[in-house]
Order: sequence, then structure tokens, then C-alpha cells
Amino acid sequence: MPQDENGREHATLAMAATVYHVNEKRKDRKVEDCVRKDGDPQKPSKRPRERFTRFRDDEFSQLQAGRKKSDQRRGNLRLDGQGNRQGQKTNDQTKHGKQKETEQLALRHHGRFYQRIPGRLPTFLWENEPDVQEPRGTMNFRRTTTLFSLIFVALFGALIVGPRAARTQQEQAPQKKQQTPTIDEYQTKSTLVTKEHKIERAKFPFIDIHSHHWNPTAEEVDRLVKEMDTINLRVMVNLSGGTGDQLKNTVAVMKGRYPDRFVVFANMSYDDLNTPGFGKRVVARLEEDVKNGAQGLKIFKNFGMDLKYASGERVHVDDPVFDPVFEKCAELKIPVLIHVAEPSAFFDPWDYHNERWEELKEFPGRARPPAKYPPFETLMAERNRLFAKHPKTNFIAAHLAFHGNDLERLGKLFDANPNVYVDIAAVLAELGRQPYSARDFLVKYQGRVLMGKDIYDVNEYKWYFRALETRDEYFEYYRKRHAFWRIYGFQVPDEVLKKIYYKNALKLVPGIDAKAFPE
Ligand SMILES: [Zn+2]
Repeated sequence: MPQDENGREHATLAMAATVYHVNEKRKDRKVEDCVRKDGDPQKPSKRPRERFTRFRDDEFSQLQAGRKKSDQRRGNLRLDGQGNRQGQKTNDQTKHGKQKETEQLALRHHGRFYQRIPGRLPTFLWENEPDVQEPRGTMNFRRTTTLFSLIFVALFGALIVGPRAARTQQEQAPQKKQQTPTIDEYQTKSTLVTKEHKIERAKFPFIDIHSHHWNPTAEEVDRLVKEMDTINLRVMVNLSGGTGDQLKNTVAVMKGRYPDRFVVFANMSYDDLNTPGFGKRVVARLEEDVKNGAQGLKIFKNFGMDLKYASGERVHVDDPVFDPVFEKCAELKIPVLIHVAEPSAFFDPWDYHNERWEELKEFPGRARPPAKYPPFETLMAERNRLFAKHPKTNFIAAHLAFHGNDLERLGKLFDANPNVYVDIAAVLAELGRQPYSARDFLVKYQGRVLMGKDIYDVNEYKWYFRALETRDEYFEYYRKRHAFWRIYGFQVPDEVLKKIYYKNALKLVPGIDAKAFPE
């Protein structure tokens, strides 16, 4: 039997066919099919760590409806807590009135068992195996217990005895009627007590490769510099420089007044996309922008998704019309920071399995349904062809190239394209939910990852510092719509930290004064 490294995986999956009902005395009552939300028998999970607490009340009704169905199907196989088949037990039930089965229901979800009490959130009961609790002086029950144990031992080789602690007195207390909270309302307070390091200031001066400041005023820039100083943000890269006069003005108000604190990237204008000769003109504009102080090119996410020719045809990410632009960037030795696609969850159906359910609820326009947008994989394929087509051009794929949830895939992208880099802007939660993999990845690809934040807020950088610099555990993330989960620090070695904070950016972006940074 295939197993995970703890030898448990398949025991868990095989157990998926079981749900335990408990009565007020919390004896195991029945064994029957587990049901999925839609009432179908539970299939072995592909996502074992999916969080049960995301289920809502109405989903439990569905679960219970499914339970009834499976009751009918498997009636003869069910055993009650006394080892009797269901239906033979009425005597006992009337004798001990309290044994009347309540609506309490234990549900299995991905190897964990939860107790459902009406009006309350599911309570964690045990993991992997039921903690079979012996009621005092009930020989029959003990027999049942033994029978269960034997079955498990025979089937799965070993019994992993789950924790008993969760089955507390509290669960037996009389239940008050309480509204089930929505997922927005359910904001738990962690009781975890562990070391915390609130890092307000980065350990080394750093470059934020991914920030946006549209047509900033002098006052805004002055304030920005003061704020940057408080967190050790040495150089801010403004990706929203625009082109032409707008670019000139942005450079003047930022670099003109603080030459060593800002970098401005140019953007392409697509206004004349449908006029013949667009490719040549866009290259000429870029050359002019670089002369006027631009130190890179930023391509926004409409490229490949919303940008269309007059014919209605979508501009593909690897559209040859833009080849001269990327070749020019190589010639000018400026990097291209490019945002292609969106988190893959935005392309998936907006259902209760979607990791970004909350964000799509808040911003329905961020959904990328197939009727209106190319599939995620199409965009990835176009992007990868673009990277391969221009090996002399340095690309910084924004937001971990949207592979933060699959670092192995990102590693392959790096291996295949030495000209590709990424920033970590707005995807910190992807790294923070896999601290071991994240650390290994950052150590292995330390020359390819750059610090970035995206939406500017001086108070939000500290999550990046804490994740990169500490081993703090299970702390809340700053933007719930990105991640309903808590994150972990993955503390990279100082040498790696320096590369992420500034060395990689110094290598890629021309004209930043390296003297402001340590060796
Ligand atoms: Zn951005």
C-alpha cells in the first residue's frame, strides 16, 4: 500500500469511506459512507490539507442529506455503539433515553474528524482514526471497539491512535442556539503561544522592484522618502512611469529630486496599435523614454488578456509585432518586468473549492472565465515562448510568475530560461504557507528572486521582513482576500537575503548606485 513519509497517507484515504455518528454520550454509533458536499460518496482527497472550516452551514445540510441516502444503501452494514445492527436497538434507546441519537454528527474531512453540533461550527474531534472511547461497564461496546480495531489493523496495518484531548466536556454541554457564522464572521483568535518577532525595519537596505506611483506630486514624493527611510527601503522602483511627457514628468519629480532613491520604468502606449508601423513607433518611444531617464520597461497585465486588435483578435503574449521591443530592451540593457495572467484560481470556477473565493466575491471583475479570457495555461505557454524567443532580454516575471503555488514548476522555468527572474510582490502568502519548500527554493534560486511589494503601504512591508528574516510561525497575513491561511517565516541566510533585497536588482537594473548597499 502506497504511503506518505509518515506511513499514513493511504490509511487516511481508505478511511474516507467512514463517518462516525456520535450521540450525547459520545459513543460511536454507526459506521457508514462518508458523503461529499453534493451527497456523493467521498472520493479519496487530492488535497488532503484543505480546510474543513471553510464549509458553510447549508453545506452541512447537504452533507446530512447525503448521509440519509447512504443510510438507505448501507443499512444492513451499520452497527450501533453496542455492536448491534441498526434497528435492533430500540430497547436500549428507550431504557436509556439519553442515548437517543441527537443531530450531532461527526464528519470526516481529509483524514480529520469533526463533530457537527447544530448552530455551532464543526469541532475538531480526531485525526485519521477515531479515538474509540470506552463507556464504563459496557461490554458490548468494548466488543464493538475491538471489532473496529481489528478491522483497521487488518486493513491498514497499524492503528494510529488519535488525540483524545479534543473530545472535551465542552462538547457535551447543552447547546445554546447560536447563528452559524459566515466565513467573513468567523475570525478565530489563535491561542498559540510562541516566539514572535515584529520586524519594523529590514535587516539590510533594500530595493522594491515592484511599486506603482502614477503622476506623483512633489509633496507625495517627499512623504514617500520619509516613509521609506523608516523601513530601510533604499530604492523604490516606480513601474508606472508611462511614456513620453508623463514619463519625463515622473522622472523629474522622483529622480530629479532624489536621484539615488528612485527608479522609473516606462510603459508602452497601445493607442496606435492598429495604425501600420506600430512596432517601429513603440520601439522609438521606448528609446526616447530611456534617454529621458527610464531604467526598465513594465508591461501590465492587459497584455495577453484584454488588449485586442481592431479585428477583435487578442494580442498574444508572444505576438511577433512586439519582438523589436524586446530586442531593443536587450540592446539597451534594461529589464522587462512583465505581468502575465493572474493567479490560476481566477481562471477556475468560482465555487467553494476556489482558494480565492473571498477575493472573487469582493472583486468579481477579477474572475477570468473561459468565455471571455484565454485559459491560464495558454497564457503560460505564450509567455514561455516569449522568454525563449529573446534569450538576451532579461525578464522579471511579476508575482513569482504565478507559480508561487508550484515552486517546482517555477524552478523548471528558471532552469530552461537563464534570462528569467521573478519578484515576490503580493504573493508572499504563497511562500509563507510552505516555509520549508520556500526556503529551499530561495536558497537554490537565490540569484533569480527580487523583493517587491506592489500596492504601496509603508505599514505592510513588515510581513515581508518577518517572513524572510524570521522563523516565526502561524502568523496572520496582511491581506485576507489573498490568503485565508496564516503564514510562517522561512528565514533565508543573510547572503540569500542580500540577493533578494538588492543584489539581484543591482545586477538587472542599470544605474542604481551600489555604494548605498553593503557588500
Ligand atoms: Zn503591480
